[in-house]
Amino acid sequence: MLTTGPRGTKDILPDSSGHWQYVEKIIREVCNNFAYQEIRTPVFEHTELFLRGIGDTTDIVEKEMYTFTDRAKRSITLRPENTASAVRSYLENKLYSGPQPTKLFYIGPMFRYDRPQAGRYRQFHQFGIEAIGAQGPAIDAEVISLAVAFLNKLGLSDLKLLINSVGCPQCRPVYRAKLQEFFQDKRSHLCSDCQSRYDRNPMRILDCKNETCAEYSQGAPHMLDCLCEECDSHFAGLQELLTTAGISFVINPRLVRGLDYYTKTAFEIQYSPLGAQSAVCGGGRYDGLIAECGGQPTPGIGFAIGIERVLLALEKQALLPLINTAIDVFVAPLGTETRAVAFQLLTELRYAGIAADMDFMNRSLKAQMKYANKYPAKFVALIGENELAEQKVMLKNMETGSQELIARTALVPMILEEMEK
Ligand code: ATP
Ligand code: MG
Repeated sequence: MLTTGPRGTKDILPDSSGHWQYVEKIIREVCNNFAYQEIRTPVFEHTELFLRGIGDTTDIVEKEMYTFTDRAKRSITLRPENTASAVRSYLENKLYSGPQPTKLFYIGPMFRYDRPQAGRYRQFHQFGIEAIGAQGPAIDAEVISLAVAFLNKLGLSDLKLLINSVGCPQCRPVYRAKLQEFFQDKRSHLCSDCQSRYDRNPMRILDCKNETCAEYSQGAPHMLDCLCEECDSHFAGLQELLTTAGISFVINPRLVRGLDYYTKTAFEIQYSPLGAQSAVCGGGRYDGLIAECGGQPTPGIGFAIGIERVLLALEKQALLPLINTAIDVFVAPLGTETRAVAFQLLTELRYAGIAADMDFMNRSLKAQMKYANKYPAKFVALIGENELAEQKVMLKNMETGSQELIARTALVPMILEEMEK
């Protein structure tokens, strides 16, 4: 127990944290390009927020939340996603009184009691955006185009963008009734989850991963055939914008997001080499959410991208950058008496903004040189007994192999000059 983390969690170790930093850097660049600003919300919220904001017929709320009672007997939940929290914060901090739309992005850990496997963890990380306040299809196109731009910037190809419309409270009841009619005599063949979905949220039967349910939903009516005029023209508008912007997509009428508050546009980006966990991005419009959370009726749209899945995809396509551990100077003390001066020099170098390290293991000269090469270090500053007595250091250029005896006080200025080159 003490030496094993909880199931479904993973340490991000020094040999891969550089990859995370790289992906986060691209996220920030792309969001900056699209004029989205970062929001950081707490990792836990009142459970009620997720019951309302995600919907109690969803897998997340039914099976996946980490919920506990705190010492003051409040029900608290570790966030399973960030949209509800972003909306809570938007309302609490009155972000609606600023320039509209409110365009936010976030990066952070999410928690779901999922079945752990490749690309599926209990603590995982999402990058997501939310655009709150704009109604027309142009913002939908912008949100989708940001996701595509991010994945393209990482070099990922072979991506598939699927889009659909899930209608609105005006047209969905008609579709819902049609679906129930379609499944009426197939109901007993569906999995137990879908049997209860039949009454509570029949659209989710189309989303079920169970093979039998998938078979029985063949030929089910499509939401697209039931859209009201407004939803229909919104969807047509989105397609036109994507087409003119050169973003290719496939319409998938079976794409229903698991969340109740989604309206109109739903989309997903798949990277098929990831196999069963091929969805890297899921998103859609949530025009009902803000009112559901106690605000004025306000439209919104967003997506969430699983960062672990993106990293798996980058690894598969050999697109991960090399992690740079290089330093400028390795200070090599030889003998105990030299250590204090070595540490003094190391400190001066670091305070001057130079990446430096020294031997802390009492290694031999040979072992220190070998160690310095591992970073790799550009220079090694050797301090033996002679150098100590003469207030000098032997500066070795590890690239050219040349070495030079210099005054101790000349080390920092010399290295700074080298760094300018
Ligand atoms: P799935 O059908 O794979 O469970 P989902 O519908 O639950 O996905 P969303 O809630 O839309 O997923 O989350 C958006 C993205 O977050 C997913 O496309 C995926 O990349 C990532 N994601 C979701 N759950 C996990 C998890 N348990 N571990 C790792 N990544 C995840
Ligand atoms: Mg899920």
